Amino acid sequence: MSKSNSYNSKVSRISDKCDRCSGKCCRYYMVDLPAPKSKLDFDNYGWFLAHENTVIYVDEKKWFLCVFSKCRYLDDDNRCLIYENRFQACRDYSDENCEFDSEYEPDLTFTTPEQLANYAEKRFAKMGRKRTKILK
Ligand code: SF4
Ligand code: SF4
Repeated sequence: MSKSNSYNSKVSRISDKCDRCSGKCCRYYMVDLPAPKSKLDFDNYGWFLAHENTVIYVDEKKWFLCVFSKCRYLDDDNRCLIYENRFQACRDYSDENCEFDSEYEPDLTFTTPEQLANYAEKRFAKMGRKRTKILK
């Protein structure tokens, strides 16, 4: 996720909220993840979380990998060094309801492999109980 078109105004209008922001949207990226189905899927996602500054979110049943890593083009004044040629993802991002005003509050957040393994264990146990009921 990246800065929106409104970031343009960061250059010209001091009052714009991007001007007052530390470039929060340029300090991480998120990618969609397929919802994990198997124990191997969970194991692989646990491996993602073994890496520092990595978080998995689940929101409205959609899974996301979030990596907190500052964009190399964000300068010390929190401005984009390649603004004119910034990436499409940066152009598409809107400052409406961005993280400057509100915290992201997903349904689930996993920050460690252990948290995810615990969730997976409960989920598979629940599925096992359902299957047992059906077979009875
Ligand atoms: S987080 Fe919002 S206010 Fe901050 S730079 Fe990005 S779009 Fe602008
Ligand atoms: S390219 Fe520019 S707008 Fe896009 S994330 Fe990096 S610093 Fe932000």
